[in-house]
Amino acid sequence: TKGEGRNGYRFYEAEMDERIEARRALSTDLWGALDRNEFLLHFQPIVTKDARIRGFEALVRWKHPKRDFVSPAEFIPLAEETGVIIPLGEWILRQACATAAGWPSDVSVAVNLSPIQFRHSDLPLLVRSALEESGLAPSRLELEITESVFLEATPAIKAALAKLRELGVRLSLDDFGTGYSSLSYLRRLAFDKIKIDQSFVRDLPHEQGSAAIVRAIIDLATSLNMTVVAEGVETEAQRRCLLSLGCHELQGYLFSRPVPAEEAGSLTNRQGLR
Ligand code: C2E
Ligand code: CA
Ligand code: CA
Ligand code: CA
Repeated sequence: TKGEGRNGYRFYEAEMDERIEARRALSTDLWGALDRNEFLLHFQPIVTKDARIRGFEALVRWKHPKRDFVSPAEFIPLAEETGVIIPLGEWILRQACATAAGWPSDVSVAVNLSPIQFRHSDLPLLVRSALEESGLAPSRLELEITESVFLEATPAIKAALAKLRELGVRLSLDDFGTGYSSLSYLRRLAFDKIKIDQSFVRDLPHEQGSAAIVRAIIDLATSLNMTVVAEGVETEAQRRCLLSLGCHELQGYLFSRPVPAEEAGSLTNRQGLR
C-alpha cells in the first residue's frame, strides 16, 4: 500500500543518511591515519607456470583503531576523493620498494597506482626517488595501472608513461577486460604485462564465453610480446585451464593469500608454492 511505501522510503532515507555519515567519519579518520602509522602493506605472490615466485603484488591495508581492517575497496575511493591518495600513494611506493630490496634479486614487486596520482603528482620523480632511496633495480619494479587512466589520455599522462619507461620500470595493465577499447591501448602504449581480471577467471573452466575471451586476450598479448598474468586463481581446475590457454603467470588464493612483509620474505626461500 501507499503507507508502507512511504515507510519503506523513510527507512531507506535513514539508512542512506547513516551510510553518508559513516563515509564522512571514515574520511576524517583517513587524514590522520598516515601520521598514526595505521597503514601497512601485504604482499601476494605472482607465480610462474611451475609455481615459482616471480614477484609479489603490494596491497595496502588499513588497520583502523576502531574497525579492525578496512578493505581497500572501501578506502581507496575515499582516499582518491579526499586527495589522501597522494601522500598515501607515495608512502606505498617507498614502502614497497624498500621491502622488495630485501628479497632475492630475481623477485619483483608490483605496485598499484591510482589515476589521481598521474593527474596530481610528479610520478616519474617520485618513482626515481623511491628507487634511489631503496637501491631497488628499476627492472624489479612493476607499476600496475588500470584502463581508467586512459579515459583522459592527455599529453601529460602520455609523457609521464614515457618517462616511467625510460626509468626502466615495467608497466602492467591491471583489471584487463573490465574497461573499454582496451585493444587500442595495447597497440598504442607499450605495456610489458597485462593482468586478466578475476571476473573472467572466476567462470573458468566451464563457461565457454569466459574461456573464449581469456584465450583471445592471451593470444593477442602474446603476439604483442607481452606477459599475461591471470588474477584470482582459486582452484586447480582454473590453474590447469589457464595454463592450457597459454597464460604465463598466475596469482590467487590457490597459491597464497596476501601476506605480511615478513611472511613474504620467508616465502621467497621456498622452491615453489605447490
Ligand atoms: P586489484 O589491484 O585488482 O587487486 C587484487 C585484489 O584481488 C586484492 O584485493 C586481492 O587480495 C584479491 N585477490 C587476490 N587473489 C584472489 C583470489 O584468488 N580470489 C579473490 N576473490 N580475490 C583475490 P584487495 O587487497 O582487497 O584490493 C582491492 C583493490 O583495492 C585492488 O584491486 C586495487 O584496485 C585496490 N588497491 C589495493 N591496494 C592498493 C594500493 O596500494 N594502491 C592503490 N592505488 N590501490 C590499491
Ligand atoms: Ca592490481
Ligand atoms: Ca587487478
Ligand atoms: Ca580489481
